[in-house]
Amino acid sequence: MASGEFELIRHYFCRGPGAFGAALGIGDDCALVEAPSAKQLAVSMDTLVADVHFPKNADPELIGERALRVNLSDLAAMGASPLWFTLGLTIPKAESQWLQGFSTGLFNVAGEYDCALIGGDTTRGPLTISIQVHGAVAVKNALLRSNARVGDIVFVTGELGDGAAAVAIIKQEFEVGKSAFDYFMQRFYRPQPRIREGRLLCGIARAAIDISDGLLADLGHICEASGVGAVVQVEQLPFSEPLEKLVDRQRRLDWALAGGDDYQLCFTVPPAKLNQIETLIDQGKLNASAIGEIVPGSGVRCQHEDQPLAVTRTGYQHFVNGTT
Ligand SMILES: [Mg+2]
Repeated sequence: MASGEFELIRHYFCRGPGAFGAALGIGDDCALVEAPSAKQLAVSMDTLVADVHFPKNADPELIGERALRVNLSDLAAMGASPLWFTLGLTIPKAESQWLQGFSTGLFNVAGEYDCALIGGDTTRGPLTISIQVHGAVAVKNALLRSNARVGDIVFVTGELGDGAAAVAIIKQEFEVGKSAFDYFMQRFYRPQPRIREGRLLCGIARAAIDISDGLLADLGHICEASGVGAVVQVEQLPFSEPLEKLVDRQRRLDWALAGGDDYQLCFTVPPAKLNQIETLIDQGKLNASAIGEIVPGSGVRCQHEDQPLAVTRTGYQHFVNGTT
């Protein structure tokens, strides 16, 4: 990067040291931070590559939003509260308009979730965004993948399948009206990391994960880490109204089970704590649905009205070059 480009980047990303215990933010060789006492740091990193994880020519503000939101989703899955993040940005060239849009999206989300940008690096190359987020969680309180036990009830927050539907719409596999288009683009670019829900679930849920690769894959990670199996009752899977209008039931199931990009939480609850979850749901503090049960064995099986259902796992769909 030429020095003028560094100046440009500094202009858009240096917004003073963050609060939240970050003693010294961007500008020195390292950021200096003070970890909250009696808490564990939860650290996670996700890289988003243009035309793999988002279309290269997408609105830069939306790219900035999505990049931080999907990272925060991993903190939510641990029950952690966001503290700060670092940014590794690789761009073909430093363009003022693109940087302005991207930084606006990024800082919108940073403000919404009280998560300060404390450092980073910029290099020239194909558009790639790496973000490392740090959060705090009370010692021994984090929601782990490895804690599920036989007899736990499996829940998911929100609705499933919207992320995969959005990918199909971006790839122009479906024609939709404006309101449906807007709805699904919001779901793709502005997923809501379930930070509040993750914190509520600490001490109630046993295991949790965020759904980035589809329910079968992600619940499968819980099963593998916990040494258990799971049965999902597909008729209990929650879908949004726009998705129900868009495609038939079979497609909805495929997308919920094997699509991706939903960024909801999947969590397991021991029978003794079910009443606490039901109370939270009844009080409107938690939007979640019971979808199955943890069972002995391994892997995730699906049932429809208690009958076995064969499901093919199509896996995560990547973008192809040239999509807009
Ligand atoms: Mg995750």
